[in-house]
Amino acid sequence: MPTTPSNGAIEEIKERLNILDIITPEVSLRKTGRNFTGLCPFHAEKTPSFVVFPDKGNYHCFGCGASGDIFAFVMKVQGMGFGEALKMLAQRAGVALPERRADAANEDQKRTRLRDINAAAAQYFHNLLLRSDAGRVARDYLQRRGVNAQTIEGFQLGYSMDSWNALEKYLTGKGYERAELVEAGLLVEREGTEGYDRFRNRLVFPIRDARETSPASERAPSTIPRRNT
Ligand SMILES: [Zn+2]
Repeated sequence: MPTTPSNGAIEEIKERLNILDIITPEVSLRKTGRNFTGLCPFHAEKTPSFVVFPDKGNYHCFGCGASGDIFAFVMKVQGMGFGEALKMLAQRAGVALPERRADAANEDQKRTRLRDINAAAAQYFHNLLLRSDAGRVARDYLQRRGVNAQTIEGFQLGYSMDSWNALEKYLTGKGYERAELVEAGLLVEREGTEGYDRFRNRLVFPIRDARETSPASERAPSTIPRRNT
């Protein structure tokens, strides 16, 4: 469960932070009367229809309709959830948030664990692509498509075996529970079956959280299916 701080903290953050300081790193603004205008960061445009109202502490785009306060802006531009945006802006404003509840801490722990699982899976797929005999077909395919080693490393591309349980075996061998693999989206469970690996005989492109660069930060790998063989 996300924390629900009193509106007091939110109001105080908005009071202490100037919306212009939050928006100008992302949008170059020009003063027009009491307000500021710039090119909208949320849709492509050549004439500015994005307006910031410092007095009200909000913004509105007359092109795409995007609008909101500093929280909405940060969430949208950084791809953050409300909790993360709140934490970041509270820190910046020097506002202490109410104590986190125990279930929020548990939630954090679970998220960390899911990230670790996805990171382990991404590394496993990556090693298969780089080194396994089974991965040769995928390596050849990438080479034909002009994808070089640097890109493969940089994006930690991977290959999943043509197997129903290779990843499951690998991850349960590392001590993860099957239920966790299901939750991480790596194992598909069907009633009355053992469950099976979601990613089979594919190139794997891990999707990373742009704000966290450590290798242990992958979200669920997504895949682009290879041509059927
Ligand atoms: Zn817009």
